[in-house]
Amino acid sequence: MAARRAPVPSTCSPIEEERPVPSEADYRLPRTVIPSHYELTLTPDLGEASFAGHVAVDVAVVEPVSEIVLNTAELTLHDATLINSDGQQLGATVETDEEAERSTLRLDGTAAAGAWKLEISFDGILNDDLRGFYRSVYTDPNGVDKTIATTQFEATEARRAFPCWDEPDLKATYGVTLIVDDGLTAISNGAEAERTDAGGGKVAVRFVDTIKMSTYLVAFIVGELDVTDPIDVDGIPLRIVYPSGKGNLTGFALDAAAHSLRYYAEYYDIPYPGGKMDKIAIPDFAWGAMENMGAVTYRETALLVDPHRATQTEMMRVAEVIAHEIAHMWFGDLVTMKWWNGIWLNEAFATFASMKCIDAYRPDWKLWLTFSSDRVHSMETDALAATRPIEVPVASPEEANAMFDSLTYEKGASVLRMLEQYLGEEVFRLGVSNYLKENAYGNTDGDDLWSALADASGEPVKEIMDSWIFQGGFPLVGVDGEPGDYTLTQQQFRYLGEGDQLWKLPVVFRSSEGEQRMLIEGGSASVAAGDDLVVNAGADGFYRVAYSPELRAGLRKRLPTLSGEERYAAISDAWADVLKGGSDAADYLRLVAGLGSESEVDVWQRILAGLSELDRIAPPDVRPALQAFVRDLVAERADAMGWKPIGGEDDRTRKLRGTIIAALGVLGDDQETQATARLVFEESRSAEGLVDAEVANAALGVVAANGDYDDFERFLAISNDSEVPQEVVKFLRAAASVPDQAAAEKLFQMILDGDIRRQDAFWMVAIMLGHRENGPRVWEMMKESWDAMLEQIPPATGRRILELIPNRSEPEIAADIAAWLADHPIKGGEMFAQQQLELLKVRVGLREREANRLGEAL
Ligand SMILES: [Zn+2]
Repeated sequence: MAARRAPVPSTCSPIEEERPVPSEADYRLPRTVIPSHYELTLTPDLGEASFAGHVAVDVAVVEPVSEIVLNTAELTLHDATLINSDGQQLGATVETDEEAERSTLRLDGTAAAGAWKLEISFDGILNDDLRGFYRSVYTDPNGVDKTIATTQFEATEARRAFPCWDEPDLKATYGVTLIVDDGLTAISNGAEAERTDAGGGKVAVRFVDTIKMSTYLVAFIVGELDVTDPIDVDGIPLRIVYPSGKGNLTGFALDAAAHSLRYYAEYYDIPYPGGKMDKIAIPDFAWGAMENMGAVTYRETALLVDPHRATQTEMMRVAEVIAHEIAHMWFGDLVTMKWWNGIWLNEAFATFASMKCIDAYRPDWKLWLTFSSDRVHSMETDALAATRPIEVPVASPEEANAMFDSLTYEKGASVLRMLEQYLGEEVFRLGVSNYLKENAYGNTDGDDLWSALADASGEPVKEIMDSWIFQGGFPLVGVDGEPGDYTLTQQQFRYLGEGDQLWKLPVVFRSSEGEQRMLIEGGSASVAAGDDLVVNAGADGFYRVAYSPELRAGLRKRLPTLSGEERYAAISDAWADVLKGGSDAADYLRLVAGLGSESEVDVWQRILAGLSELDRIAPPDVRPALQAFVRDLVAERADAMGWKPIGGEDDRTRKLRGTIIAALGVLGDDQETQATARLVFEESRSAEGLVDAEVANAALGVVAANGDYDDFERFLAISNDSEVPQEVVKFLRAAASVPDQAAAEKLFQMILDGDIRRQDAFWMVAIMLGHRENGPRVWEMMKESWDAMLEQIPPATGRRILELIPNRSEPEIAADIAAWLADHPIKGGEMFAQQQLELLKVRVGLREREANRLGEAL
């Protein structure tokens, strides 16, 4: 899956258990009966939000059995029968345990070992929880509500749609038939094979059998949806499926998907394993996207986009998610983890691979520089006592869902990138290709990949990776000494307290003697490098660097000569040291004060992120000085860039202009920029397309941050009327950003009333709680309506309302939040809550140290 990113860049100690800790074995089905093919027929009733189903499963009975246990949830089973080729038939009574999400079929007799067919009829519901087989509703351009039935099975929700052995290593093939009203679009993993009259105005649509794959990759989608004409990508028909009226938003996705299909077939050196590729935009979707083989589902913002009106970030997001999901068709779908503890490798690799794929598609976007912020985002969590190793034991479905976090995606991808750069890109690619070829249609764990990479490279890959995968945290590399005689040391980096772990640390460094690499295995190592030493050259390493004062002074002087990635890392390291209490905010201000001529937008965003955190804790009488500091800092860029793109500008330059305007108008509180932003915003509404998308977006941000209740109402109305997914979200975000208590109260009530799509409710709550002015009031409202609020959020993403609580560093509120969450845990979000509370504690510490002395530094 593609995770939904944090609303803004911000951000194991074992979970305390008083009850007995469940083990993986409690959730594993007996291996006495093994499925090989499901023949599945479903008849959804969109109006009644229900479905009827029948499944015939070819199974191998491994040893004589008198009962069969499989997974079901919210299904009613009837008529279970086991049949073999001799005509022997065994009936069964069904006992369902909803809590365990299992049904036991007690057979009339004993089934001998051998081949059998298990037939079950069942009924189920189309739920509103954005999981299993669920309902999604949209309004077409004529104002008519249309209902879609769609699926989201990862991690363990296929059992809500049909009785199955819902574990990733019990792979099978699937022949799906959907019986639907004639005229509806019906999609599944395979291409449509035949369509027959089913009577009563219905047709039976039979799809081509899938490859052998896990249950969580099965998908079916039914509803009034439009479909683009297929384009042929080296023999693979590629289509976009979308809600009526949005056909003009499909062109970019088709282009990026065609590129991705070709890119990976070459990278992996294996043809695409599915017969066709449909990409389906779903109006209600809990995650970013889902890699169902041949039928990938997306939230609309991750697939449908208007290139003339979208920002570079929005375009990049679409390209990345498409590339991420297509990477999974091989890595994840063709070769799959044995169990959910291995999900990290699936997601880490797809995230890593999507960077490579889109970097090849749009080199001008500098994907790896942009990835710096993803790396740092995961380092935030990983610098906590409450972090977890990338791979941890997983037993329950809740624990499987909790794995979809920044440590799985972003740290995982960073560590793979570090390994790739250490081994060499072509060696790494070869190892991956060999791994996939050897394990096609099978299941693996990390060791299988490490051994393929070791064979390709001759390096001790498992030893290196085990130290990164099975322990949480990351090192701080100390650098001391002088040319010819440097010492590198490693110690665990923590914001609070101490950690004593060591890593097998691949280090790349550069000096006047060129680039060198080494593996540090102990606490320290000697390095004979020359002048102008840069440790973590290229900045692909998942660690921070602390130079001695002399070396640091030299490095800061040479900062403009470093790469964008290296400058980003140096500034990020400096800010992390402030958060840790190692240096004071004055040091950070001195560092960034000299960087006004910076040319890379990502580096600017990193500089501004630190300043924004200081703004959050600055006392009212100090804020004006900080705002003046920001205005001075960006003045050079602002003057040079103005408000209008110059012909032939690239996307990143346009994005930088937007970043600078927003910095001036929000963080810098510049009145002139605020006035101009208001004019530009009106211009962008009256003559859409004439205002550059980055400038329009920045103007909206400035207007929202300084807006009033009337602006809030207007943003909501624009969001409501828009057909463009990015615009819907952008204006919802703007509405949630207006500093007005009445606006926040109304918006929160709309969420409670179900007037905001559930897929958006969680990040909106997060933004509102993190809001400087409105946050304290929103927190009170959250407590008053806690259960009702959580009911409006998809269960899988409930924890993410906590994403911005580190912003609430006012000591009384921080203490109140901690006390409240101790009494009101969010199911499946316990570990995430611990992490966010610790990040909050870090911010409370920052406030205590800096609030009173910040004024002197400005
Ligand atoms: Zn994924």
